[in-house]
Amino acid sequence: MSCSVLDLARSEDDREFHMGDYEGPVARWCAGCGDHSVLTAVRRLLAEQQSQPENTVFVSGIGCSSRFPHYLKTYGFHGIHGRALPLSTGVKLARPELDVFVVMGDGDCVSIGAAHWIHALRYNVDMVALLLDNNIYGLTKKQTSPTTPQGYSTNTQPRGSYLPAMNPLEATLGVTNASFVAQTAEWVPAHLLATLRAAHAHRGFSFVRILQRCPHFTADLYGEAVKNPGLVELLVHDDGILAPEIDAMFEKKRPHDPSDLDEARVLAHDMDQIRLGLFFRDESHPRYEETRQLPHHTAADKIRILEHEFDRYAV
Ligand code: SF4
Repeated sequence: MSCSVLDLARSEDDREFHMGDYEGPVARWCAGCGDHSVLTAVRRLLAEQQSQPENTVFVSGIGCSSRFPHYLKTYGFHGIHGRALPLSTGVKLARPELDVFVVMGDGDCVSIGAAHWIHALRYNVDMVALLLDNNIYGLTKKQTSPTTPQGYSTNTQPRGSYLPAMNPLEATLGVTNASFVAQTAEWVPAHLLATLRAAHAHRGFSFVRILQRCPHFTADLYGEAVKNPGLVELLVHDDGILAPEIDAMFEKKRPHDPSDLDEARVLAHDMDQIRLGLFFRDESHPRYEETRQLPHHTAADKIRILEHEFDRYAV
């Protein structure tokens, strides 16, 4: 995310921010919940970027992870279910100088918010969208979500989820004008932070799927991958996610040029292999805030137009 007004404001600001400056009340997620790890990484990113709290906004919908804005000392908007993206788009279009983040769960983004998700990708407005995917509706106590694996027992489908899970990466990579698509895991903090850094630096809509443990309801889903990094494949490239600290941790590495959309789609399609890295990035894609045509009205013009509209409905 890049904004000259924000850069200027930062350059004239002699305050120095530390992680603690972004820390809100104690997070009320379950012990061991992956959301804690994402929150820490986000606070680390904000400190690294010296983000001004008053110029930073976190928008969320409904779900466990959607409590995110409460736990940060920035501006925040805890919206309604599935509507985090239209809200954040509105914030960014009205106040382009703000640094905007969106935090959604799989129920929020991939189910009720799916239409907004597709169009937010196409609009490509400059913001960072985080999908914290724990494969379940945690807040409503283990209901099947669109990313719950087929056959996985839940409280709404105790005999096992009826349908094949949706693939958020593949869906995202199929949308016209998607410009940044990455996957990381909350249990690999260095990769998580490096991914957030790359997403934040991207000019356009950065979509990051974060594989997230929910020890309360889906503890078994990522348990093996956490214990055995050999089950995870890292996508590596000079233009990809750069996290040299974890190079030695993962044996399986696959070179992938993030400008290659066709290969990104092939890699994303295979859900049997957990892959972390940058699948696709193209900063040349048009951004809605730059391509939309807005009439240039002065304040007096706006008042005249409003008066005209009010007069039309006068009785
Ligand atoms: Fe986290 Fe799951 Fe607890 Fe929700 S139910 S706070 S996702 S561990």
